[in-house]
Amino acid sequence: MQESPRAEAAPLPTRPRPERVQFQWQIQYACNYRCPYCVFEGQWESVLKLDRKDIKMEAWVEVWTRMHRTYGPGDIFITGGEPSYYRGFVDLLKALTEMHYVSFDTNLSWSWEDLRRFVKEVGKRYIRLDTSFHSHSVDVREFIAKASFIKDNGINYVCRLVAWPPLLSKVEAFREEFAKAGLTFVVYPFNGVYEGRDYPAAYTDAERALIQGRTHELKGDMRNGEQADFVGHMINMHREPPAGRLCRSGFIYARVLPDGTVYRCQPYESRWMEPLGNIFDEAFALREEPTLCRSQWCEFEYRYLVDQG
Ligand code: SF4
Repeated sequence: MQESPRAEAAPLPTRPRPERVQFQWQIQYACNYRCPYCVFEGQWESVLKLDRKDIKMEAWVEVWTRMHRTYGPGDIFITGGEPSYYRGFVDLLKALTEMHYVSFDTNLSWSWEDLRRFVKEVGKRYIRLDTSFHSHSVDVREFIAKASFIKDNGINYVCRLVAWPPLLSKVEAFREEFAKAGLTFVVYPFNGVYEGRDYPAAYTDAERALIQGRTHELKGDMRNGEQADFVGHMINMHREPPAGRLCRSGFIYARVLPDGTVYRCQPYESRWMEPLGNIFDEAFALREEPTLCRSQWCEFEYRYLVDQG
């Protein structure tokens, strides 16, 4: 992803930033899987009510066009739920990759027909797939076949597995299968409670080493380097409260919910603290500078802290 989408044709952004703005967009909560380690486990009934099927894809394309006009090409990371489950997802990607760098989570439960259409119509256009292997829902060979198809077509990707405690005994075998297929495979620490113990803090040193594997070697690759940093951070989970430190979330990064509400980061979103506004509002803007954090904890967005950058 060297060139910039619409770099030459686009007018200059009206509110330029010192680096590309990043949005994490929770496009919908709906998912066709029910993983026991999902953050939404036990809350599906209430969470699914928050999806906004009444907001059409065209309205979202308008929003992201306005963000492009305002801030220039940004990084949009689409997450869910299962983003590919969103009606018209391939068409949405075609529109977004005209303007932004786009990456998204997927469980790769796509039909082969949808996968081929995606490769043909979206292909390598400023896109990356963070594929999640959920071993209780899909056979490892089927998943590897689809991930290999993505890779063989030159599309940026990474394969991930969540180290939910009951899966720890299988991590090495899975790692080997993915390595045999020549696929980049990253194990993510589980973040939650299992049998009354709070993870990732409850992992033993041996389990930490198992999860980390050789992930640190990915650091040479910019995007996978972020994964490596993330795994390293989560697994060691420095729990020093970030409150009182200057943070660039809300300034160069924000989280967008299915109804358009925007928060500076996940810890703020999870407590409905200080929404930045709604992205469907024409006047919506990110903050003009880093601001102090007021949270006692931070997970994966710690990298926006000014003194971490
Ligand atoms: S340090 Fe973490 S919790 Fe605090 S504002 Fe930044 S991203 Fe949010």
